[in-house]
Amino acid sequence: RALRYCCQLLQPHTVTPAYNPTVEPGYDPALWRALQHQEFELYYQPRINLRTGTFCGAEALTRWHHPKRGLLSPDHFIPACESSGLIVPLGYWVLQEVGAALPSMQAAGLEGRIGINLSFRQFQDRQLAPTIERLMQQQHMDARNLEFELTETALYHDEKHLCSTVSQLSDQGVEFSLDDFGTGYSSFSLLQKLPIATLKIDKSFLDGIPGNSDNEEIVRAIISLAHNLNKQVIAEGVETRAQLDFLMRQDCDQAQGYFFSRPVALTPFLNLLSTSHRQQAL
Ligand code: C2E
Ligand code: MG
Ligand code: MG
Ligand code: MG
Repeated sequence: RALRYCCQLLQPHTVTPAYNPTVEPGYDPALWRALQHQEFELYYQPRINLRTGTFCGAEALTRWHHPKRGLLSPDHFIPACESSGLIVPLGYWVLQEVGAALPSMQAAGLEGRIGINLSFRQFQDRQLAPTIERLMQQQHMDARNLEFELTETALYHDEKHLCSTVSQLSDQGVEFSLDDFGTGYSSFSLLQKLPIATLKIDKSFLDGIPGNSDNEEIVRAIISLAHNLNKQVIAEGVETRAQLDFLMRQDCDQAQGYFFSRPVALTPFLNLLSTSHRQQAL
């Protein structure tokens, strides 16, 4: 089924011939097989609204059930997917999985958006925006439940195409966030060029907080920058109560991290969502 799905996506009118995986320089048969054999699974990590203490959406994170090596995290396969172009069909698979899961998430009381990571390589697909729109329509996804997470590497490629793709999708009601904010070379320039709703403070800036005065100052600066630009701000990688207290004192809007929950499979995520109505996360 996955193969048929990918072949549909690989039809010339939807995706350029550059995405025929077998002709890509870094073609990796194991990864292609993994996509065909449904070896990928989406995990979800909830986000917490720091004002209300309730869940407000989640980030979708891909895992690979490798037949020999067990459950692999993205660092083991996303770079190879990017260099081989497989990230393009994988990215559409992610969106399709989120679309299939949204009705049960809504039934469990989902509020907010599901963040989907978009790799710079996906922007080399000239049909990225129309394909995303088509999949959203086919699965009746509500744009208000979707957010795409960008990193500044998206800028290295074709800035015009990036801007037109982002504005086309924004017009549909999808939001965009800037992931790993502060770690790149041109984060500010992305902010200036694109309709970004949310900044995600990179985990590295939360290390040593409270106590590390440089990191404290950087986190404060990002939060006030976001607010002065009328954007939301999420802290990623919150592991301790002390980090959380610091963020709340600085008026950070949302947080995500092991302190609340690790990324979990869909079923436990639905359980988290439905119990969160009886019990607040904070
Ligand atoms: P990211 O988008 O910045 O995702 C956040 C990463 O931080 C996730 O790692 C998450 O598990 C981890 N994390 C969250 N809270 C904590 C915490 O409290 N402590 C620690 N130590 N880590 C925490 P993960 O799942 O390994 O993903 C790594 C990266 O792989 C992601 O970084 C994202 O850039 C990429 N990635 C994951 N799934 C996809 C995907 O479907 N498509 C694309 N293009 N990239 C993906
Ligand atoms: Mg992300
Ligand atoms: Mg990040
Ligand atoms: Mg990252």
